[in-house]
Order: sequence, then structure tokens, then C-alpha cells
Amino acid sequence: EPELSGEFAELMELSDTFARMEVRANADNPTDARVARNFGARGIGLARTEHMFFEVDRIKAMREMILADTVKGRRQALKELLPMQQKDFEGIFRAMEGLPVTIRLLDPPLHEFVPHQLATQKELAEDLHISLDAVKSKVAELEEFNPMLGHRGCRLGNTYPEITEMQTRAILQAALALKVEGIETRPEIMVPLVGTVEEFVQQKAIIDQTAAEVFRQRKDSVEYSVGTMVEVPRAALLADKIAEHADFFSFGTNDLTQMTFGYSRDDSGKFLPVYLEKGILPADPFEKLDQEGVGLLVRMGTELGRRGRPGIKTGICGEHGGEPTSVEFCHRTGLDYVSCSPFRVPIARVAAAQAVLRD
Ligand code: PEP
Ligand code: MG
Repeated sequence: EPELSGEFAELMELSDTFARMEVRANADNPTDARVARNFGARGIGLARTEHMFFEVDRIKAMREMILADTVKGRRQALKELLPMQQKDFEGIFRAMEGLPVTIRLLDPPLHEFVPHQLATQKELAEDLHISLDAVKSKVAELEEFNPMLGHRGCRLGNTYPEITEMQTRAILQAALALKVEGIETRPEIMVPLVGTVEEFVQQKAIIDQTAAEVFRQRKDSVEYSVGTMVEVPRAALLADKIAEHADFFSFGTNDLTQMTFGYSRDDSGKFLPVYLEKGILPADPFEKLDQEGVGLLVRMGTELGRRGRPGIKTGICGEHGGEPTSVEFCHRTGLDYVSCSPFRVPIARVAAAQAVLRD
């Protein structure tokens, strides 16, 4: 794993003496977490949990869960996933040695996990002892015209609370397992795609109930916090109300840009080059935080959030977190941290220092 050394390492240390904002990394496995630490990340600002379910030993249970028609069936499949998910989090916590780790609950639409090819659908039907038609009709049922605006994020966690329960259990059981070994952890549970106060309140209730149950069963407890992504414009507009219930805010500027501009983050490449050429846009808003639009929502969300809960911790975990002009904007806005991909951590550390010097 790469490390910083010599003058590069010195420059980084010097930067940290000036920077006010912390730099964290987006990482969802122990290797990336270690790279992030080597590059000076002060925690993980976003551990996306969806990738963990695509591994060979997981995807079958995940599909079984999706195909189950009852809560009982889903719980059964989730029980198989729990120990594996717990190990995932143990690995990340271990790599971060007591630094904060923000773990985001499942975000993508379930359609991403089901098989789309006939041969794999047949295999799955045989594995689960169900008909091929049952598999096909589930795949069809989950299809959406605009999946990124569809049944995903906390909408999943609220319609299938058992998913939130399993993930919360895995996070806290992992933290308790490390506590037994004398390793400190700082789990932060993050709810994705919140747009209404009630969406967050319901997820938080499930998380807190599950935590109480885990602590009672294990006769031990750990500290944890529960916060939200701010990536739907409505969450920024209602930030004061949401902040009354949330320990932290993390601005997901990838989705926030998509939803503020109405540009698909997956398809915008088809017309953005022309827009840039014609001067309709000064820069690609997915690359540089659009300070007069998406940035306004970040500023508004931060100010309102602090009104709702003075001292609420705020950060950004969209790709902009590692882009210098965006990092400077985050500094001026008063965010507590930026989180970016591990290899961008050094850039963000310098940018965070330069922002202070420019002040
Ligand atoms: C975001 O939307 O900015 C974000 C960090 O989440 P993801 O990229 O996983 O949607
Ligand atoms: Mg997002």
C-alpha cells in the first residue's frame, strides 16, 4: 500500500498545521481504509455498503432476501448476511484504529442486485427452488424508469426495516467485538437519500431500537451516532427540522447536483460537453461544486442545520470533497470536514490549508 514520504510527507504535515477542516476518505474496505490512513485521512466520511453485497458469498443471500415474499423470509436471508457484514465492519474499524467511521445504510435500488441474464435467472430459480417465472416477475416488478429517483436509500430502509436492522446490528456487533479486544471504535450510522423529517425519524427509531436490543443481548454497549446524507434538495431546505433529530449532516453533492440541476449523473456526458463549449455552463457541476446553485443549498443546509441543532457536525462526501475549489468553498461555508476518495486525500489536505491562508 502506498505511503507518503520525504518532502511530500512534510508538505502534508505542514498543511495540517494550517487547515481548519478535517479530511476524511470515502472507503468501503480495509485496504482502501489503510490507504486513506497512510495518506492522512482523519476518518472515513463515507463507507458505501452496497459493494459488499456483490461478492460471490453474499449475492445469493441478497437475492434470496429480495425474492422472499414475506418479512420472515427476508429476515431469514438477512441472517445469513449478518456475520459477513459484521466482519466487513470489523475490518474497517480495525484499519481506522479509533478514528470516526461513517457507515451508510444500503442505498441503491434492489434491481441492481437481481440477475438480468436468462442463464443466471435460471440458476437462481434452481438454487432457491422456485420457478423461473417467479424470478422473472420479481425482476420486472423491481424495474423503474428512473431508478435513481426511485425505490432506493432510506425509502428501502423504511419499506424493508429489516435491512436497516441487520446493518445496524452488524455495525454495533462489530464495534462490540473490537471493544472486547481493547480496540476503540467510533461508528457513525448514516441514512441515505432523506428528503422528509419523517423518513429520518423512522430510520433513526429502527436504529435506536436495534441498538438497545443488541446492547441488552450482549450486556455491553458502545457509543454511536446517527446522521443523514443531505443529497435531496428538500433535505437542505428543511435542514433545521431534520437537524433536531440528527447528530450529523453529510452533503452528498453527487446526488444533490443531479437533483438540483435535473441532470442525470449517469447520462449528463451526452450533452454537458456541448454546454461547456457554448458557455452555458462555466464548468462541469459534477466536477466542481456549483457555488451559486448546489453550493447555495450546502450553505443553506449548514446554516439551517446549525439553527436546528447548534454544533451539528457537517461534512461533504460527494466527489467534490477532493476538488480544490470545492474544498475552499466548503471551508468558507464552515463545514467541519470533507471526505474524498483515498488518493485525493493529499490534494484535499493542501486545499484545506490553502483555504485558510487565502482567508
Ligand atoms: C452523493 O450522492 O454525493 C454520494 C456521496 O453518494 P453516492 O455517490 O453513493 O450516491
Ligand atoms: Mg448519493
